Amino acid sequence: MGAEIISGIQMRKEILAELEQDVAAMKAEYGQVPGLVTILVGENPASVSYVTLKVQTALSLGFHEVQDNQPADISEQGLLALIEKYNNDPAIHGILVQLPLPKHINEEAVINAISPDKDVDGFHPVNLGKMVIGGDNVRYLPCTPAGIQEMIVRSGTETEGAEVVVVGRSNIVGKPIAVMMGQKGRGANSTVTMVHTRTKDLDAHCRRADILIVAAGVPGLVKPEWIKPGATVIDVGVNRVGVSEETGKAILCGDVDFDQAREIAGKITPVPGGVGPMTIAMLMKNTVKSARWHREQEGLTRTGK
Ligand code: NAD
Repeated sequence: MGAEIISGIQMRKEILAELEQDVAAMKAEYGQVPGLVTILVGENPASVSYVTLKVQTALSLGFHEVQDNQPADISEQGLLALIEKYNNDPAIHGILVQLPLPKHINEEAVINAISPDKDVDGFHPVNLGKMVIGGDNVRYLPCTPAGIQEMIVRSGTETEGAEVVVVGRSNIVGKPIAVMMGQKGRGANSTVTMVHTRTKDLDAHCRRADILIVAAGVPGLVKPEWIKPGATVIDVGVNRVGVSEETGKAILCGDVDFDQAREIAGKITPVPGGVGPMTIAMLMKNTVKSARWHREQEGLTRTGK
């Protein structure tokens, strides 16, 4: 029997429906909606399509959405000044700067310039630090790892005491999801191993995994025989492996050979239609959370608490 397919498209739909209700409730309660600014520098086609999807999703939820497109030759100073403007704009609760940025701009400086209170991407060192401390300290989880964890939970996969193997150690996927799965609490409490390019016996580690999370960016890296029968496989990889003659669009695949892996795994995410849609849903969730938090702060200030 083939694995159960964990559909990111279906889960995104459920999460967005929940958020739509939150936004309507906020509007009714205090006449304000979450505000998100998406800053796009230049016209990198992949970035344009990611930003367009984020803008459309924000608008469909009834957000106040500002799409701020800047030329590729904007100076670093200019971009930092723009961020400062939105840091001080009370109608904006989330600031998203689409990465990668042109070479002449220091990405770290840009990430650090975003107020941690409005860092809905969850990339600011303050928010990453809070994520590592865990518990009530957590503010904004980085969106892709948050989406991965949500998929694991919503698919009914047991995480308590589970062996989790994470392939990849990037700052935006591998490292944070490894920390998150090892934390105390719901959807975590797992025993985590993080593997990477220098790992010996990669296959042996993968074979032990009850939950295998693959974020390497290498098509077909994980062979079907590396998968423990019945495991939950989360394939984060998005690899462009050609262009469809029919549609002219990129042909995408993950890091796991889906057709073979689904015969062995218990549950598996497809590419496309898996983790990708969840990342956007989590960005929206963080923005709603930020809007509520900012509102609470205003209330506290007004009542002098
Ligand atoms: P990255 O290149 O920054 O990191 C890749 C990691 O994989 C590295 O830590 C490296 O050590 C490890 N790795 C690479 N080749 C390996 C090998 N042969 N054996 C063992 N480990 C190996 O990439 P990233 O930003 O973490 O992204 C990883 C993949 O996930 C990419 O395909 C990217 O497009 C995709 N991605 C998808 C989403 C989404 O929303 N669906 C979001 C972020 C990244």
